[in-house]
Amino acid sequence: MIATLLVGMLCVYLLSFSLMFQLISRRLQDEKMGMDVFAAANLMLGGAYVLQLLEGPPGWSWTSMVNHTLTLCSLLAYCVGGARFFGLATPLVRPLLYLAVGYSLLQILVNWAVGPVARYALLAGTCAVWFVSMVAVLLYGVRSFARDLRGEVLLFAGLISGICVLNVIKLSKLLSGGFAALSMDGQFSMIFYVYMCSLATILPPSIVWLVLRRLTDRLRGMAARDPLTQLLNRRGLSTALDVYFRHPGTSARLLLVDVDHFKNINDTYGHQVGDAVLCGVADALRASVRKDDLVCRLGGEEFAAICVGADDASALRVAERVRSSIEQKVMLHDARYEGLRCTVTIGVSDGFASAACLGQAMQQADAALYRGKHTGRNRVEQNRGQSRVNAALDTVH
Ligand code: GH3
Ligand code: MG
Ligand code: MG
Repeated sequence: MIATLLVGMLCVYLLSFSLMFQLISRRLQDEKMGMDVFAAANLMLGGAYVLQLLEGPPGWSWTSMVNHTLTLCSLLAYCVGGARFFGLATPLVRPLLYLAVGYSLLQILVNWAVGPVARYALLAGTCAVWFVSMVAVLLYGVRSFARDLRGEVLLFAGLISGICVLNVIKLSKLLSGGFAALSMDGQFSMIFYVYMCSLATILPPSIVWLVLRRLTDRLRGMAARDPLTQLLNRRGLSTALDVYFRHPGTSARLLLVDVDHFKNINDTYGHQVGDAVLCGVADALRASVRKDDLVCRLGGEEFAAICVGADDASALRVAERVRSSIEQKVMLHDARYEGLRCTVTIGVSDGFASAACLGQAMQQADAALYRGKHTGRNRVEQNRGQSRVNAALDTVH
């Protein structure tokens, strides 16, 4: 009686979470992260348990056959949902149809050749093998595609291992004691459905949490990056600097990079070409700084690079590398824009050692940049009015 009640609760859990997954998937619109497939999987498993409540004692019936097929199809759908969550464009409908038809035929064959107990044993055995494969894929994922969701994926693997063990026990009980193993009054059925109810309570909110995590991570990433060049924006730069300066004793230098006569490029070639040039400058900047340096688009045609742990000489060396790589870069590989080249002027700040000093470093670099613009452009200028960069670079080389 209690086990039957638990199956009833399972149906309610599974079907209501199916509805919730469906609602979430509608809100997600473009990239559903597998939520629509999870909704279908929950619907199939919920439907299978409704059929179980309707079908009465175990044995051969069409309802029971559909129940078993739905159960197995729901497992396939959960796997496809998981794959889609991790960005794999996995097909659903065709594999589901093949599995449904294939497994239904197999059930008829097994029932006819070996008997109804064997059909139930077939389901328990197939589920156990399926769960083992799911656990193996999840454990592989912890080290590869799901590295950022380690805790969550390990929780899933643990919970699925539990249901796998219960299916193995069910299989051995069926093989040794026949349908008595499935008696709803037996202790095993109680344990089995209590565990299933716990799974149905824990797993769906965990899936919702995963989607929420992905969305918030994505939003944070979008808020920190410039959509045109994908470089950090001002906000992203401040956050990254806060993290960098958590280590005491670290210092950095700021390079302020401004494209020369960019307005002319826009006016001559159009805004779209201007945007392509900005992307080209961003690429050259990214490629010229060192791996740990921070690169940012401040706005318009102004960029900044933070050379972390750099002294005056190495910051100037990086700035000169940026300047010269942009000067030499072919911005657009299109015959119509063959003559299109661009240059930048770069102002370099003094060293600073906290995110709060970024404003002061900006002022220093801006003053140096201003001097660079007024002394001919396409040059690197260091803070401290007197030090023309060419002189400084002479000491560097
Ligand atoms: P200077 O050498 O003194 O820096 O001259 P400049 O022409 O580069 O500077 P100015 O500030 O006069 O012009 C900057 C131009 O950048 C004006 C603006 O239309 C253009 N701009 C700002 N943001 C964007 C953008 O996102 N895309 C494009 N294509 N143009 C932009
Ligand atoms: Mg400019
Ligand atoms: Mg400017």
